[in-house]
This record gives sequence, C-alpha cells and structure tokens, in this order.
Amino acid sequence: MQKNCIFLDNNATTKVDLEVVEAMLPYLTDYYGNPSSMHTFGGQVGKSINEARRQVAALIGADESEIIFTSCGTEGDNSAIRAALLAQPEKRHIITTQVEHPAVLNVCKQLETQGYSVTYLSVNLQGQLDLDELEASLTGNTALVTIMYANNETGVVFPIEQIGLRSKEHGALFHVDAVQAVGKISMNMKTSTVDMLTLSGHKLHAPKGIGALYVRRGVRFRPFIIGGQQERGRRGGTHNVPGIVALGKAAELEMLHLEEATTREKRLRDRLERTLITTIPDCEVNGHPTQRLPNTTNIGFKYIEGEAILLSLNQYGICASSGSACTSGSLEPSHVLRAMGLPYTTLHGSIRFSLSRYTTDAEIDEVLAIMPGIVERLRALSPFRSDDAGWLKERELGVRS
Ligand SMILES: *Cc1c(COP(=O)(O)O)cnc(C)c1O
Repeated sequence: MQKNCIFLDNNATTKVDLEVVEAMLPYLTDYYGNPSSMHTFGGQVGKSINEARRQVAALIGADESEIIFTSCGTEGDNSAIRAALLAQPEKRHIITTQVEHPAVLNVCKQLETQGYSVTYLSVNLQGQLDLDELEASLTGNTALVTIMYANNETGVVFPIEQIGLRSKEHGALFHVDAVQAVGKISMNMKTSTVDMLTLSGHKLHAPKGIGALYVRRGVRFRPFIIGGQQERGRRGGTHNVPGIVALGKAAELEMLHLEEATTREKRLRDRLERTLITTIPDCEVNGHPTQRLPNTTNIGFKYIEGEAILLSLNQYGICASSGSACTSGSLEPSHVLRAMGLPYTTLHGSIRFSLSRYTTDAEIDEVLAIMPGIVERLRALSPFRSDDAGWLKERELGVRS
C-alpha cells in the first residue's frame, strides 16, 4: 500500500493527529465499558464522554447540553433536516442551495417525492448566494433553511448570520452544514442565529465515523436514530466511545491551532494558487477570491480533463480532487461548478487542492515544479487546444482522446 504522498485532498478527509490517536487508544483496549452501564467500569467511560462533549462545545461556542454525538456529517445533516420537519408538521417548504453536499441535496430530493417543496437557491459565477433570492423564497410555510457554511469544492463561505437573520424573520429553523468550516473559521453559537449545526470528525484530524450535531437549547428536536436513551433520548445507539474521545481531543487541538494553522495554510494556498495561475496559461481560480476558506483552491485548466490531471498527479504521489463524481462510467462535471455557470472548457478541467496544518512549503514546491509539465503534456495531446469551438464539438460527439 502506498504510504507516503503529498496529500492535498484535505476537504475529502484528513490525517488523524497522533495526539488524537493516543487519546483514543485506551478506549479500544482497557476502557471498553459501556457508558450506559450501572457499574463503575462502564460509568467511568461516561466521564470521558462528558469531557469530549465539553471540548466539542468549546470549539463552536456552544453549551455541552447542545451537543449530540453522531456517526458522521451525513447523519448530522439527515437528522437535522428530519428533526426540523417533524417539529413543524404543518410546514411543507424547505430552502437550500444548488451547491450543497449530497448529504443535504439528496435528502431534499427525496423529500420532494414525499410532498415537500424545495427551493434550491442559485449562485453566481463566483459561487455566491443572492440574499434577495433567499428573501423572496421565504414564506410562512418554510419549515427549514439548510445552507452550508463553506463549500467543500470551492471553499466559498456563505454569509451565515445574514441568512440566519432573514430565516428567523420568517419563523423558519436554520440548519448549517459546517463540516468544512469548523476548525477553519472561528464561530460562536452563543451569539449566532444558527439553530442546528453539523460537524464531522474526519474533516478535522479525528477518525472517520464520528461527528456531532449542535442543537440550540429550546429548539424542538426529534431523534433520527431511534433506540435507547443515549444522548438524552436524542440519538439512540451505544456510544462510539473511542471516536467520541478522539473528536473531543481533535476539537481541543483545532482550537489551539486555529489561528496559526489557518494563517500558515492561507499563505501556502495563496503561493500555490498565484504561482500556478501566473506560470500556466489559460487557467483561472474558481470561486470568490476572498470569501473563501483559507485552505482551499479550485483551479480550472482549460482544454484538458480534470481526471487526466489527477491521474498524472497520482503518478507523482500527489493527491488532489476534481470534485466531479465519476458515476457509472460517465464523467459528470461537478454540480457546484455547473451551478456557478462556468464555461464548458473550465468545467471539465478543474482541480481542487485542499491543504491542512500538515502541508509543508517543500510539498507546495514539488507540486509547483510538476504541474506546468503535466498541463503542457495533456494540452499537447488535445488537438483542439485554444480552439473552444472544436473542443466543444469533440465533447458533444463523445470523442475522447
Ligand atoms: C464531508 C462532508 C460531509 C459528510 O461528512 P461525513 O462525515 O463524511 O459523512 C457533509 N458536508 C460537507 C460540506 C462535507 O464536506
């Protein structure tokens, strides 16, 4: 198995911090008790869960009682949406955006088949929402506004508090998928308009399979996973103790590193981005230049396929992403970039680099040394270089080189 690589795909997942591994290990070996048990052996584990709950709450400025541990970000999104609808059975309208993660988008699509109407807000060329469009879509029938904090593909950050204020004015609940934002943007639920907020462990240097949902005190909540009385009846299922302890530790470390790490990541990201777009012709940054996460850059290289770039990078041990889902053999361009209305040539040649606190200057240097050659080689193979019309025609006919 390949072990060493230049990992610039941190919006897909992150390396587990060694301190996090150390914190969780005893709960895989010695302390395997069930925190819901009556005996001391199990009960002592409950104390560790409370400590983790305190750590996670602190990261987002919430109260411990407002944190529900989940199995992942996807569960958090699903449960928040379902809970909001169950709490207001008379309301049948949901507002979201065209650029959400599938964990929100596909739930909304299913709800449309169950009698709900859904408004999918559009974005402009820079990936930004139009708050007037939101305002015009809100009605007394709107149960929920569910909008992501930051986009996983472009890093574009939405004006969460302004969205929240408008939602409140119309009596709608406000859920935020903050999986990409937690640990990268400092936030404080005490002064926020957010009612529910999703986060996920493996996007912030905890392991996969653990997450949390923040539910503001006073917001009516119905469990999505129905079972025992764990999480005060809000989420059934025996606690994932090692995962919860890990998430707590990861949250503590994120708080410690947030400012310094994001400054460093932004500097490295900006250097990577600026050098690429100045040394390689016909490429541009997708997304807003400033309203963006510090660790993400999405760049469109015209006239070539993003997947081809990824395969070439992979041969050098460099991990990035195209953001497009490769489903059943047909290469569908990213729904996010499509919603932004990017031109065809850019849409298919877009690559996302996402950094973490582990990214080094030397790694960025290596990518910068390799990328121009890759793009040049691929473009030389494309007979329609600098000829949009011909390139488009080739695509339409389904001819692939
Ligand atoms: C990764 C991600 C999710 C899903 O989280 P999982 O823990 O992998 O289920 C949801 N939303 C966004 C924005 C993400 O980036």
